[in-house]
Amino acid sequence: MLQYPNLEKALKYNFGYDQFRPGQRQIIEDALQNRDLLIVMPTGGGKSLCFQLPALLKKGLTVVVSPLIALMQDQVEALRNNNISATFLNSSLNPYKVRSREEAILNGKVKLLYVAPERLLSERFLPFLDLVKEKIGIAAFAIDEAHCVSEWGHDFRPEYRQMKSLRKRYPDVPTLALTATATDRVRTDIIQQLGLKQPSIHIASFNRQNLYYEVRSKTKSAYAELLELVRENEGSAIIYCLTRKKVDELTFKLQNDQISALSYHAGLGDEERSNNQTRFIRDDVRVMVATIAFGMGINKPDVRLVIHFDLPRNLESYYQESGRAGRDSEPSRCTLFFSFSDIKTIEWSINQKTDPQEQLISKQQLRQVIDYAEGTVCRRTIQLGYFGERFPGNCGNCDNCRYPKPLQDWTIEAMKFLSCVARCKERFGMLHIIDVLRGGKNQKITQNEHDKLSTYGIGKDKTVDEWRMLGRSLLHQGMLEQTSDGYSVLKLNALSWEVMRRQRTVSLAIPIAQKITWEEGSEKAAEAEILLQRLRSLRKQLADEQSVPPYVIFHDSTLKLMTQVQPQTLAEFAKLSGVGSHKLAQYGEKFLAEINAYSQKQSLPEKPVNLKPSQNLLSDTELLTLQLHQQGFSVIEIAQKRNIRPTTIIRHLTDLIEKNQPIDLNQLVPLEHQQKIWQILEVLGDISLTPIREQLGESYSFDEIRLVRGKWRRENRK
Ligand code: ADP
Ligand code: ZN
Repeated sequence: MLQYPNLEKALKYNFGYDQFRPGQRQIIEDALQNRDLLIVMPTGGGKSLCFQLPALLKKGLTVVVSPLIALMQDQVEALRNNNISATFLNSSLNPYKVRSREEAILNGKVKLLYVAPERLLSERFLPFLDLVKEKIGIAAFAIDEAHCVSEWGHDFRPEYRQMKSLRKRYPDVPTLALTATATDRVRTDIIQQLGLKQPSIHIASFNRQNLYYEVRSKTKSAYAELLELVRENEGSAIIYCLTRKKVDELTFKLQNDQISALSYHAGLGDEERSNNQTRFIRDDVRVMVATIAFGMGINKPDVRLVIHFDLPRNLESYYQESGRAGRDSEPSRCTLFFSFSDIKTIEWSINQKTDPQEQLISKQQLRQVIDYAEGTVCRRTIQLGYFGERFPGNCGNCDNCRYPKPLQDWTIEAMKFLSCVARCKERFGMLHIIDVLRGGKNQKITQNEHDKLSTYGIGKDKTVDEWRMLGRSLLHQGMLEQTSDGYSVLKLNALSWEVMRRQRTVSLAIPIAQKITWEEGSEKAAEAEILLQRLRSLRKQLADEQSVPPYVIFHDSTLKLMTQVQPQTLAEFAKLSGVGSHKLAQYGEKFLAEINAYSQKQSLPEKPVNLKPSQNLLSDTELLTLQLHQQGFSVIEIAQKRNIRPTTIIRHLTDLIEKNQPIDLNQLVPLEHQQKIWQILEVLGDISLTPIREQLGESYSFDEIRLVRGKWRRENRK
């Protein structure tokens, strides 16, 4: 077994990273031994490095096959920013450019060439490749998004099928196939279709530890919750909706609420679509509201929030789409909004399908999505189980693990419900059963004389939603059946009878109002925030000068390291993960200067006057906000002066209020609003902002509620 002790050095020098991600080193060693490889890693796992680093260490050209132009450009830009000679050939180039790039390749000036599959196999290109092989050699073929070769995958591309002929033409050039698609069938298909020879197979875990998964029910306040999520989670967000119309509506609403948002769907013109995409990638706009047309080929590593505002088609799509969050391994959130009416809509469209086989598959897939959404166990266990991976649960990073829903005994209610199904002769759906239980007066009830049943009106004490929750849970727990003929008629089974005979109890997981916790950690983290914002704007400025996305300059994680370490010299700067030799030379001085300017300012603190004794509990950033507030500046003014976001200032002010500092609430919230908010808090207690706002209406802002809640918390702690 060969050893490559210098791989870490090469990694740091070329890419700036200190360590390999799990699996990467082994894969790279295999690649250096010219083995065929199948690499299955989740999105963000770090697949690209697996062929990029070997490409630099081996003789000759590495040819990367990639299905999407945007993806190619993106990767090439990122490589060039590390001074790695990479280029692409695709239909967007004029013949002159193509020729000059081909020349550079033949002169051995290029290590990585990205091409689309249709070009690779064209009459004109293959002879060129022959020439390359003869003159400088071909180090490897890397087939990205290799699942496109499989009809079982979700985006089959016929062009990929012809790739096998490459194998025949260049039998001694090793091939690496890379994909994030997990199913067995697709994997086997890739090996066959690409003609991989005794490939070394690497399958990474699909657990994305940095993603927080949660499911919320899509109630009337769903939009308000969504808004709160978007406001609370800094950084880029993608919101998926089912239809173009919904996308446009939601974008409009968000824009109205001062959120920087754009739409993306197939109904927009090519130009608008690609403009919107670019603006999102370059951080000119924060939120992308989109149909699932958006995302394939988006390599943006710093998406912090992916919301599904409608139900996804199947669990695999959900995993892939939500997985566009946090590719850079930083904490990110994936929220799914779930409603019964969404299920109905999807069921309806499934019933429109003519092929019974297709119908069956779709129904099964819908079932799995519902199981995920309604499940009360660890979300990861359900998701990973779907990919055949066993996960023990207790991940600590999903809603079910963090806020386990309390179980309540609903046996009596279940008996009422099930016997009502029995008395209605198992011929009706859920809504009718609930109507009967609650003593409804509609025609369907009178016609069937269901108002004469003993179960008529015995369930008035529960709301429709509560009964529905019970009904869904009974289905879910297998104590009730439902026909799948489009009518969803409820049927009893053996377990139902056990419940009615009191041989079995029924527990129900009761949803609780969820709090959105601010990810903000220690005081120190808050302090670092100002510097982080300054470094972000420097990064944005440098990126705009080169017309590249900001993350191409440095990732968020590297900026964060800068704020933590606050390096003073180039040597210290060079040690940060994400700083390679080229970026050090290119940007080191500029970022050091910014860090320096910041720390100098910090060392000349003008302490504000009249502070209460607890002032040592305050961070510098809070002190500064307090000082400016005392000088009479408004929130917006403070935000502008300090070049940080107004919500951050509100957060400081709220914390200051809670810490009993002299903040003049009257200056921030009109007295009348204060009183109303206070009243609600007295009734509802310390709960999240959304339900409070729901009580108060649109004329109250989340900021106002937050500030008053701060005061309320302070008073109620005493
Ligand atoms: P994939 O193609 O598997 O979705 P990428 O190759 O785009 O993932 O990698 C995801 C992100 O992780 C990229 O931004 C990449 O720069 C970063 N990355 C890859 N390898 C490492 C590593 N060893 N250390 C730190 N970051 C890495
Ligand atoms: Zn969990």
